[in-house]
Amino acid sequence: MTLRITHLGTGSRGNSTLLETDEVKVLIDQGFSGAQLEKRLGLLGISPEEIDCALISHHHGDHGGGANIAQRKWKMQILSNERTALELGLDPKLTSYFDSLDLIKIGEELSVLPVPVPHSGSDNVAFIASYKGERAAVITDLGSWTDELVRHVYACEHISIEANYDEKRLDSGPYPYSLKERIRGRGGHLSNNQTGQFLAEVCTKATRNIVLTHLSEKNNSPHLAESTVLYHISDVFDGDIHISLQDGPEMSHYIGKTEMETNHTKTKNHSKIV
Ligand SMILES: [Zn+2]
Ligand SMILES: [Zn+2]
Repeated sequence: MTLRITHLGTGSRGNSTLLETDEVKVLIDQGFSGAQLEKRLGLLGISPEEIDCALISHHHGDHGGGANIAQRKWKMQILSNERTALELGLDPKLTSYFDSLDLIKIGEELSVLPVPVPHSGSDNVAFIASYKGERAAVITDLGSWTDELVRHVYACEHISIEANYDEKRLDSGPYPYSLKERIRGRGGHLSNNQTGQFLAEVCTKATRNIVLTHLSEKNNSPHLAESTVLYHISDVFDGDIHISLQDGPEMSHYIGKTEMETNHTKTKNHSKIV
């Protein structure tokens, strides 16, 4: 009776994350080819036909590039905002549109809230999934953040967030100056330091796990991302931190409590206070 979160892979060559309950299977982003999606789901014993729907954050190829294929191949239902659907040329018969901050109900227990984030040339959203009184945030491709995003991510039990680049590596790396400026800009991507600063604002003792995603293969490394982020949050976070790389599926994380567990926690908390 939990929500299981599994990253099928994240990075500039494709992103997709599986949310799974007893009742539904939902993808966040479909930036893989049909063959890749089928292979990655297959490793979990799931076929693409079993996916109830895919929510697309924005139209960039690494997030929405495979949505069309999924509609054609498996009649997969896609949920996105209008701009993203238009840019991707989605099939209207298999597409439902959402507006930012309108809660999307999927099945009886799962709901997902799209929250706008700044990312140049797109109408990008972060997703906050709620299940049995707990919340999981999936946030990617943003050059900066808003107070609204902080409010919605605050004290989430699970947070997946991009840690795209190390500032020094980007500076001294091979990219042309204009591209470096775009990545660093307000509508670009978050550096390890920025991700750490954001997490320091939103993490509480309720936050049990963090997954750092969408690491640049040229301008970052898992060790740099993890150590830089931990430096910022060591006072507020004592859960697990993991890295999602380009090739998944990675290990799964869980949120959501059964009624019994909730009562048990209440009792435990109460006895602690006494
Ligand atoms: Zn993007
Ligand atoms: Zn991306």
